[in-house]
Amino acid sequence: MAFKSINPATGEEIATYPAHDAADIDRLLQRAWDTWQSWSQEPASVRAAFLERLAGLLEERADRYAALITSEMGKLVGEARNEVVKAAGGARHFAAQGQEYLRDEAIPGTPGKVVYQSLGPLFGVMPWNLPFWQVLRFFIPAAMAGNVVLVKHADSVQGSARAIEELVRDAGGPDGLYTNLAIRRDAVPGIIADPRIRAVTVTGSTGAGRAVAEAAGAHGKKAVLELGGSDPFIIFEDADFEKAVKLGIVSRFSNNAQSCIAAKRFIVARPIYDRYVRAYAEAANALPVGDPMSADTRLGPLAKADLIATTRRQIADAQAAGGQVITGGDKLDRPGNYFAPTVITGLAPNAAIAQEEFFGPVALMFPFDTEDEAIALANATEYGLGGAVWSSDAEKAARVAGRLEAGAVFINDFVRSDARAPFGGVKGSGFGRELGALGARELTNAKLVWTA
Ligand code: NDP
Repeated sequence: MAFKSINPATGEEIATYPAHDAADIDRLLQRAWDTWQSWSQEPASVRAAFLERLAGLLEERADRYAALITSEMGKLVGEARNEVVKAAGGARHFAAQGQEYLRDEAIPGTPGKVVYQSLGPLFGVMPWNLPFWQVLRFFIPAAMAGNVVLVKHADSVQGSARAIEELVRDAGGPDGLYTNLAIRRDAVPGIIADPRIRAVTVTGSTGAGRAVAEAAGAHGKKAVLELGGSDPFIIFEDADFEKAVKLGIVSRFSNNAQSCIAAKRFIVARPIYDRYVRAYAEAANALPVGDPMSADTRLGPLAKADLIATTRRQIADAQAAGGQVITGGDKLDRPGNYFAPTVITGLAPNAAIAQEEFFGPVALMFPFDTEDEAIALANATEYGLGGAVWSSDAEKAARVAGRLEAGAVFINDFVRSDARAPFGGVKGSGFGRELGALGARELTNAKLVWTA
């Protein structure tokens, strides 16, 4: 059955794409395997030069790719352009630093060294929320290390999925270096089981991650899981109040409020709690919601119609658990998947709904009295992706950062990914790292070579 791309701003079908069948999958796996034999033997300088060309093409085509991303998943076209340019920056970073990240490491006092070699064909299961960046931040370091990749992209962004394959080819990547598998999730376990696949990575929900990890575990294969989050944003009384409002809004509502590392739970010192909630709700309410192609819009539609139902259900559950909707609370009465920016207070922190990730424009507010209480609230979900701490007391901020169960903590800023720095989570947010030196080595064979 073909894939359909639907414009979330209008509900209109914009394209259909054919699916691969079992024979296609087998042929593409074999091609990837064959390409790995040669790509892994190329000098690192050849792989770096390819990444440079990839970066150049991404920049050249940024407007075209941004329009495609926006049409398929609804993010603001300016943010979509930034996503493409960010991916170009990532390619340039690994072109420049990849050889250093992967250089042989002598083991002091021994005749041994560790060399970082490719693993082979890697399989990635990818989400729709950043359809270029999520895929390319996996592919770029993997390709630099000499791996080849096959990607099952999300159902709803098959245009982007095909565009990335074409991009790699146009940048001079050999056929089989990057393969788009136009498949549904039921084909995933069979691909993981295939002996030509050496490791898997998934970016998406905790459910998707666990399903993929289970299949990988059954075949003894390495898995990297980049899953959801419910990041805390802790604001102490001595924080820069205005900045904590402004960047708290940016963090929650960027990418149409569908980012794994968005601040989702605002944990605010009681003396400033009421003032913060008021200022935050006012700013949220003032966000211009509308056409993602317009430069004036700050919040576009949710990417898929089912996210409206999920967000509605989550708000109803929050209300049933004592939550009060201060602003927003429902879909906007117009065509497209538009949902009002929503702020909820009074939710019992131990309610089941407070443990869920809100992948829509909903900010949850919680007051705290003591530092210990703030930390306990922050760590109270099954997630452990990122967290932010706001305080003008550097020692206190560092102390709190040290006690958060998270893969990343930002102090006086909001959490974001950066090609130079490792990215990943703990607990239900997954394991393994992408980006930076750790990401460069994550999907490699750290081989010991000992010379007598
Ligand atoms: P999913 O996690 O369901 O989708 C992400 C990818 O995983 C898609 O390619 C999807 O395929 C695939 N997938 C899902 N379930 C399985 C499975 N059991 N076996 C194999 N592959 C699977 O995201 P949704 O689109 O449904 O979004 C729902 C939730 O996911 C959000 O509320 C959010 O919590 C989380 N999410 C987190 C992201 C992050 O960056 N951490 C990104 C996107 C979503 P298909 O498209 O065919 O369903």
